[in-house]
Amino acid sequence: MRKLIGVYGASGCGRGIMPLLREQYGQADLVFVDDAQAPGRVNGHDILNWQDFVRCDVKEKSVSIAIAASQTRQVLARRCAAAQIPLVEARAASVVQMDDVIIGYGACLSPFVTLTSNIRIGCCFHANIYSYVEHDCIIGDFVTFAPGAKVNGNVVIGDHVYIGSGAILRQGIEIGMGATVGMGAVVTRNVPPNVTVVGNPAKPLV
Ligand code: UDP
Repeated sequence: MRKLIGVYGASGCGRGIMPLLREQYGQADLVFVDDAQAPGRVNGHDILNWQDFVRCDVKEKSVSIAIAASQTRQVLARRCAAAQIPLVEARAASVVQMDDVIIGYGACLSPFVTLTSNIRIGCCFHANIYSYVEHDCIIGDFVTFAPGAKVNGNVVIGDHVYIGSGAILRQGIEIGMGATVGMGAVVTRNVPPNVTVVGNPAKPLV
């Protein structure tokens, strides 16, 4: 009986995560799971719908949710939990992780991500290529970093926050849950929950 890993989402994010899992879990069978794409193949892997994936008769089955939209990740994480299918971590070999870093289940850590020391991160964290988290940050559940997001020390980030590509967060600030930081923003002050900030210095989008 074989071990099967499903990469949930067969689009851009999933195609970036699949090669990481192939390297990490060389012995496993790897498929994409997608609710909208027609069955077929992408980059050498079958696409199954959720029902067919659940029906696969294997000894061990797990999922990596590779979808950037955090609310979708939460819905699919609940679906996996209800089906008693655990979430695996996808982690590039080039990820740097220093001392006392605790990360919840189901993270996707892309190439050249750096997590320095004394960091707490919730479940289903997505850190895209070249993003970093500096010392003493506290990051909630279902947080998403686009490529090159730069989070300096002692920053607190709420659940479902999205940090856009190349944005920089000043040391010691707090980003409220559900907030969005636009691409390239330079964030020097706290951001309230569910607010979008853009620019340098970053200001709320009106
Ligand atoms: N998707 C899915 N189930 C859902 C929501 C999304 O299978 O409940 C799939 C969707 O069909 C698409 C992928 O996830 O193939 C998301 O792709 P998208 O390009 O929107 O985002 P990204 O890959 O950048 O996260």
